[in-house]
Amino acid sequence: MTLLERDKHAPAAWRGNLPVTSRYTYGIAGEKFFRALKDEGRIMGMVCPNCGLTYVPAAAFCERCLSELTEWVDVGLVGELHTFTILFVDYEGNPLDEPELVGFIKFGDGGIVHKLDADPDLLEIGMKMEAALKPKSKRTGSILDIEHFRPVK
Ligand SMILES: [Zn+2]
Repeated sequence: MTLLERDKHAPAAWRGNLPVTSRYTYGIAGEKFFRALKDEGRIMGMVCPNCGLTYVPAAAFCERCLSELTEWVDVGLVGELHTFTILFVDYEGNPLDEPELVGFIKFGDGGIVHKLDADPDLLEIGMKMEAALKPKSKRTGSILDIEHFRPVK
């Protein structure tokens, strides 16, 4: 059947449900990153032995030189505000009751996008921001174990 012949047929559709299940895993590096955050309240990165880049969050391989990353480094809870924005709508475009402040906090050569607890008028690019962690008993091993970042006093 040629393409021209195929176009003469109406498209077919089947209605119903497909039972699809999936499980997302963090991967080897992500597993250790989130366990350290949950169990120890630490933000961990990995250093490339070849080019020296520090990956935060942790990664298994260097994106620049493809070296395997095996050297862990505790980067602390204080990063640097790289950029920020104010959100007025949610991910579906619905207006938020209160605007939300979100920023990219730089750690090493990477960083974390997260909520900010701050007065936007007082934020400055490059200022030090610290992670406010949930109490250990409430951490689940997700990025939301960090409640937000706030300016270092
Ligand atoms: Zn590298």
